[in-house]
Amino acid sequence: MVYRFQCRRCPFTVWSTRRDAIADAAGSHILSHYRERVTKQDFRIRWSCPHCERSGQHHDGDAGVERFEQHLFEHVESSVESGVHVADDIDRTGGVLVRAPRGSTGLDNARVHFLSPGGVVLFVTTAPAERIRLLDDALNEWPARTIILTTKPDPLGDISELDLSAASLEVVRLDSRLGLSEVGETISRVVGEYEDVGGKIVAAFDILPELVEKFDLQTVFKFLHVLDTRLTRADALSHYHVDPRTQSQSTINVLGQAFDLSIVADDRRFVAGE
Ligand SMILES: [Zn+2]
Ligand SMILES: [Zn+2]
Repeated sequence: MVYRFQCRRCPFTVWSTRRDAIADAAGSHILSHYRERVTKQDFRIRWSCPHCERSGQHHDGDAGVERFEQHLFEHVESSVESGVHVADDIDRTGGVLVRAPRGSTGLDNARVHFLSPGGVVLFVTTAPAERIRLLDDALNEWPARTIILTTKPDPLGDISELDLSAASLEVVRLDSRLGLSEVGETISRVVGEYEDVGGKIVAAFDILPELVEKFDLQTVFKFLHVLDTRLTRADALSHYHVDPRTQSQSTINVLGQAFDLSIVADDRRFVAGE
């Protein structure tokens, strides 16, 4: 079960499977709109609610702020929705940029969340074994079809111990010397094979950091725009990964403009509009 809280005053949105993670994130976010309501006086911290008569005084500053955040959240708690998907915010079709460190739990959580509605799962990745393992671990059953586009030689060699007999797996090898337009054409061809059959297409695009390293940003941006248009025409839900530890904020901001939604994923929650 996924919960969602949306701020009434700005585009901030948080999703989580845990209500306590929603309460923490929403409380501290709402406080950011009411900083002037917290004052320090005689070694004490004092807060007063902008919505009601309540106020508080605390000797421990952190505890005081936390109490105020909890109180602010109580005013909006009834607006927390349940049983949602992040993709609801874009009508379940389009591209989402996921900002998370490579190899992090948050990134895997985002992958599983975005892949789960898919009948046809399409990975563009340099780590096919890890992605197949993730599907095997996280989903109750294999997607109707799983397609892996990769430059990795012997892509399934590392997972010979897994039983893939029910996986309906197809591997498409990409030549690492290919230019972006050839990569785009290959993805488009694969999407074309499945767009009218076999259910929702979800695409996981892992190789954005590699592309940014190899090509100039403007070229990558144009490629993403064309690719996103193609996938959206196929009614696909796609997500693309960037790593904020290795990519500059300005690069991420430029890339973000190619997509319908941009989220930060950590091990407890997803956040947009921050
Ligand atoms: Zn806000
Ligand atoms: Zn109040």
